[in-house]
Amino acid sequence: MNRYKQAFNIILTIFFLFFSQLNAQKKFVIVLDAGHGGKDIGANRKYDNIGLVQEKDITLEIILKLGRMLERNKDFKIIYTRKIDEYPSLIDRTDLANRSHADLFISVHCNANVKPSPYGTETYVQGPDQNRTNLEVAKRENDVIFLDTKDKEMFASYDPSSPESLIALKIQQSKYLESSLIFGGFVEENFAKKDKRFSRGVMQKNLHVLRLNAMPSVLIETGFISNPEEAAYLASENGQEEIAESIYNSVINYKKKIDRNNQQKKVEEPKEQPLKNDFRILLMSTPNKYNDGDPALKGLNYILTIKENGLYKYYYSVTNFASIKESNLKTAKDAGFKNAAAVSFIPNQNMNTGYYRIEVYAGKDKLPNASPILKNLKEVEKTKADGMFYYTYGEVGSLEAAIRLQKEIEEKGIQNTVIEKVYK
Ligand SMILES: [Zn+2]
Repeated sequence: MNRYKQAFNIILTIFFLFFSQLNAQKKFVIVLDAGHGGKDIGANRKYDNIGLVQEKDITLEIILKLGRMLERNKDFKIIYTRKIDEYPSLIDRTDLANRSHADLFISVHCNANVKPSPYGTETYVQGPDQNRTNLEVAKRENDVIFLDTKDKEMFASYDPSSPESLIALKIQQSKYLESSLIFGGFVEENFAKKDKRFSRGVMQKNLHVLRLNAMPSVLIETGFISNPEEAAYLASENGQEEIAESIYNSVINYKKKIDRNNQQKKVEEPKEQPLKNDFRILLMSTPNKYNDGDPALKGLNYILTIKENGLYKYYYSVTNFASIKESNLKTAKDAGFKNAAAVSFIPNQNMNTGYYRIEVYAGKDKLPNASPILKNLKEVEKTKADGMFYYTYGEVGSLEAAIRLQKEIEEKGIQNTVIEKVYK
């Protein structure tokens, strides 16, 4: 191959990779999970007329039929937890779904009862107590959690152990639950209306295969193997085809609905306008000084402390968006500050009747002359009150200037300082 041809081929490859990448990003990823498999047979019954009916075979047949229908649609990317008679563990199945950043997880099963009479379909979504389990898992496996852009804006840094992150995860889990309920509703509706099946409805239950998923997820019980008539239907080519088609229709209904919702959101929600003032959440006022990470701050980060008339006021976060203010307030209350309240600050306002300074030290003992504070800062003022020594530095007109000054001091290695508001 000559050099030009080689170069041309490289360019072609780059183009191909680039465009296939572009395409891959847009696809709606669906994980199809055929329940059981391999040594795990699932529910099974032996009948005189149709012989041995095994859940693992029926679920695989339905999933393969469903997959073939979905794969014809270029908008979908289909991932199978199994395509043959093998047994991936439940953890393998959810890991695959989470790693694939899937948009929807569909697990197909068959029901069974000790009595032959029960029949019909049911679709399960994550149970009511499951949120907590998910959060526990998410705290450990934080790479499994994919916050969307809006959540990311609200919860700037993701620290899985902080209350802010837990709130973000709770919001995310309830979004998944809502979507799962919508999809589950379509599945049961299609079974009932199209296939004239008896729908037992959409239910919530703590099921292992749904528990760890970071996406809308359902588990469909397609019918009772223990009921002779339904077993024959489940084992038949026609029955499996109908079930696959009903689930396929539900995916289409669901995708249309979320596309419409996203479209509507864009139209209905013009970008939120910022407010004139900044809002901080006042957590508490106390004569006690707490440094970053003190248990009294209950794990909250982004704390600004302002001393005023001898009291330390602890403020959490800052924003000029009303929606974020509300969610910050909720975060503070959920963290345990029941009396937390939003306080408005006029940006860059100069104090007419006083000034701001930085309290660089407060303690029972005088600072030694060799202390880094006295060595690094010139013109530190010392006052004594009620047996305590206070060292302060600087004089600026606005809170913003005080925050900048505090930052400069921090860069010199002086930590745990407090902004003090002084009235003349
Ligand atoms: Zn099963």
